[in-house]
Amino acid sequence: METPLAYNILDANDKIAADLRADFAARGLLVFNLISSPGAGKTALLERTLADLKKEFAMAVIEGDLQTDNDARRIAATGAKVVQINTGGGCHLDAALVRTALEELPLDGLDILFIENVGNLVCPVEFDCGEDGKIALLSVTEGDDKPEKYPLLFHLARVMLLNKIDLLPHVDFSLERAERFARLLNAGLRVLPVSCRSGEGLEAWYDYLREARRVKLTQS
Ligand code: MG
Ligand code: ZN
Repeated sequence: METPLAYNILDANDKIAADLRADFAARGLLVFNLISSPGAGKTALLERTLADLKKEFAMAVIEGDLQTDNDARRIAATGAKVVQINTGGGCHLDAALVRTALEELPLDGLDILFIENVGNLVCPVEFDCGEDGKIALLSVTEGDDKPEKYPLLFHLARVMLLNKIDLLPHVDFSLERAERFARLLNAGLRVLPVSCRSGEGLEAWYDYLREARRVKLTQS
């Protein structure tokens, strides 16, 4: 019986992702794949993180977008190295696209690499890019039932960042409800409420990165 095409594509992707993961591991490079809906604040989170931790870590970003380099220019303004991938309509990044981006991004001396995926909660989750973990970003301007509607992301993610908590007084989002749905899918999930605008909660995210980097170094 023929294997369905979709499985062949994912299998080929996983082989490239495994090569990337081995390369990252040999370097002790910590890699996170950042996934959210459009407008949840992925680029804003990275702008804050890159600026606030620039003295602690050498960081770079692979920026995935359907079109434009607007987000890459925002990242570059922090002084971090960034490579833009325009998928030309493709709704996710995959391992081959990341490998191509790395041709323009020297990894020597880097501590942390962020992959900002295309804004989409569905297929980016299915394509392993060789990362250490997926970070799910959900903003309080979305529904608090997103973890229930898009279970695979919240099942696989290491961290769920709940962004824009400065807007909580103005929206019907329940942090407790979002967290409860997500924990049903993933008991070990770290849940970090933050505001990339006010800075509230970001220190817990930075502590998470410091700890993840420390663990990564002990493994390599
Ligand atoms: Mg963005
Ligand atoms: Zn897609």
